[in-house]
Amino acid sequence: MSDILFNRTKIIATVGPASSSREQLKALILAGADVFRLNFSHGDHESKLKIIKHIRSLNEELSTHISILQDLQGPKIRLNEVEKNTFIANGAKYIIKVDDSLGNAVSASTTYTSLPNDVKKGDIILLDDGKIELVVDGVEGNDVITTVIHGGKILSRKGINLPSTSVSAPALTEKDIIDLEFGIENDVDWIALSFVREASDIDNLRKRIEKAGKQIHIVAKIEKPEAIKNIDAIIEATDAIMVARGDLGVEIEMEEVPLVQKMIIDKCNKAAKPVIVATQMLESMITNARPTRAETSDVANSVMDGADTVMLSAETAAGKFPVQAVRSMAKTIQLVEENRSKIYYKYKELDPESELFYNDSLVQTAVRMSQETKAEAIVGMTQSGFTAWKLSAHRPQAHMFIFTSNKKLLNVINLIWGVRGFFYNTNESTDGTIADIEQILKSHGHVKPGQAFIAMASMPLKKKQRTNMLKIHVVD
Ligand code: PGA
Ligand code: MN
Repeated sequence: MSDILFNRTKIIATVGPASSSREQLKALILAGADVFRLNFSHGDHESKLKIIKHIRSLNEELSTHISILQDLQGPKIRLNEVEKNTFIANGAKYIIKVDDSLGNAVSASTTYTSLPNDVKKGDIILLDDGKIELVVDGVEGNDVITTVIHGGKILSRKGINLPSTSVSAPALTEKDIIDLEFGIENDVDWIALSFVREASDIDNLRKRIEKAGKQIHIVAKIEKPEAIKNIDAIIEATDAIMVARGDLGVEIEMEEVPLVQKMIIDKCNKAAKPVIVATQMLESMITNARPTRAETSDVANSVMDGADTVMLSAETAAGKFPVQAVRSMAKTIQLVEENRSKIYYKYKELDPESELFYNDSLVQTAVRMSQETKAEAIVGMTQSGFTAWKLSAHRPQAHMFIFTSNKKLLNVINLIWGVRGFFYNTNESTDGTIADIEQILKSHGHVKPGQAFIAMASMPLKKKQRTNMLKIHVVD
């Protein structure tokens, strides 16, 4: 592991045609990718399974715990096929049908059959990431009649966004349920749900995962105005959040996105929920070997805002320079982490009434102690991951090494800021465990003789309670 970059802020690389071979995936890991996202809006299960197998075999080969994130399409609405070179002019009438007719300059169709029921006069329909804007005049039979506000070229299969409409489509579509079965069967580490609107969307997904007896964790993608309205309940219900700026920037005013990003990151940091900033981070690298200054600043600013994780989409999935994109992102992160002390050490007022008060106090004290002693690392032992989540939220400058016999957890926590997992399943005595941990960390080059780490443990070991002990351990 030690020859791989060791940033605290994590990188998600979306896998696609530009990156799905074993060789390319390996190059992305070595460049600094921590999580691979499989986007279920594209491609078939057969090709996804191949990628999953490659990632698992690379984890064996490289002794990494690269996480697999399945991204479900959710109720994304799309156009059907459209004739080549179809243009619509400002002020013209345009019809959206709910059959499978081929689109042209008069009408186009969508598979979303509830569209005529959901929209009302005055609603806005945006096509192709908002490049084309229509306003609804009314509904005739199953046809939605609109006037073109901003015209242009209409392309096949482009997305439809309905920012002012309350969409009745369920959070998990038929396609999502089939894809979810695939994800569960193949035991992915994280599942992201697109177009989340309320906390119950997350609860329903969680019930399905639990029913299957799996420990898969959930990312709620925030890309609808309703999700912003319900953000507190969604953060509470989910395991992590994604600021999905692509659709979000169409569904709300694009100029509001930076403020919403900061608001969501703050709330997630306070709630100890990992937060991912996504989309167009290094967009120009789809075609260029170097990013723009603005893109590099966007990555750096997201890290300074407090993101746990930054994400690449088409840059790694379909771009010309996937490895360079990851490398550029990793280097930007590294420089911020080395030079911006403000990103570290977040403390908070603890609630003595909370049933987790002792635990919260212990975690916060471990972080304070690491700050005072400049310890190399904080070491935690956990089966649930609880300590990892809580420690990370305090943003210690020391690395957090989590030892667990829960193999699944090792991959799950690879998405969280500053946390690295190690497999460990001997449980004889606390002294023995700390000696073993010292050995493991030394052998990986993470600590040297004379350096200190803070060990968190639960005593007595065999009782398997929550963490209740701290030790400053000086390496022999
Ligand atoms: P997508 O999600 O790439 O699946 O659309 C991210 C976003 O909308 O920003
Ligand atoms: Mn999206």
